[in-house]
Amino acid sequence: MRAMVLETPGEPLRQVDLPAPKPKAGQLLIRVHACAVCRTDLHVVDGELTRPKLPLIPGHEIVGAVEERGPGADRFKIGDRVGIPWLGWTCGECSYCRSERENLCDKARFTGYTLDGGYAEYTVADQRFCFPIPSLYSDAEAAPLLCAGLIGYRSLVKAGDGKRLGIYGFGAAAHIVTQVALHQGREIYAFTRPGDKEAQKFAKALGASWAGGSNEMPPVKLDAAIIFAPVGDLVPQALRAVGKGGAVVCGGIHMSDIPSFPYSILWEERAICSVGNLTRRDGEEFVALAPNVPVRTEVETFPLEEANEALERLRSGKIKGAVVLVTDAAKSR
Ligand SMILES: [Zn+2]
Ligand SMILES: [Zn+2]
Repeated sequence: MRAMVLETPGEPLRQVDLPAPKPKAGQLLIRVHACAVCRTDLHVVDGELTRPKLPLIPGHEIVGAVEERGPGADRFKIGDRVGIPWLGWTCGECSYCRSERENLCDKARFTGYTLDGGYAEYTVADQRFCFPIPSLYSDAEAAPLLCAGLIGYRSLVKAGDGKRLGIYGFGAAAHIVTQVALHQGREIYAFTRPGDKEAQKFAKALGASWAGGSNEMPPVKLDAAIIFAPVGDLVPQALRAVGKGGAVVCGGIHMSDIPSFPYSILWEERAICSVGNLTRRDGEEFVALAPNVPVRTEVETFPLEEANEALERLRSGKIKGAVVLVTDAAKSR
């Protein structure tokens, strides 16, 4: 199989030919159709997330078809279309796993980080962590639901039920969260890189009530804000934008340092929290919700071999929606 492999963090991925993996007990061999490119992949490739498996096949927003089943893997049929997310394995025994917080499992393994992922023609996955993909979506359209959608959804739940929601960083996760939040009857206030008129236009077109630069204050106090941009300076900015009792949710896995700030902007029961990974339950809830909204994903596709170009595109921030790698097996709908 063709695969794009990370050998040394900080260097481009290398295209190699490898034998397809063999599914072990409880695993599926998946023919990869599409794999979305997440900001987390950039953090892994650039070495900001340390200690990945090496060499590594990145990618954790995988859509493909079941090609072969390992011993005991009977949850899906051959040919079924499934999605594989970031959470690839949990121990089931630690205090987190036993208290419905498997996202925090001490021994968790992550697709495209500590397990090989989807920047390849084939991958294997534990069947318990795979999801059926709603038929509404093409392969490429479905891929961003697997992380941008799931982590976005978990961030939205953490933000609480407030009506006025700010979103900092208007990329793949934001464009999905916006649709869900509007469907729930909320208002969206979109913050982009200062001067990024294109992204502001995109946010408005999706239904945001207001769009401006991250250095601006919104016209009203917000009930909560979600930060998807990996920029620690945005935390005090967002605290200033939320009203009393408001939450600031950091949705990313990595962020630059948060500068110090006066206690007065945290006081009055404002809260800061982060989102760590996802649970299978998040996945099931979101996959059921997405077609009802219906969440539409805007994608820009690249052939698998152009993974480095796709990563660069995300790094530069010059994208609307999500970047997705596709293989020859990708189907349009
Ligand atoms: Zn991700
Ligand atoms: Zn565990």
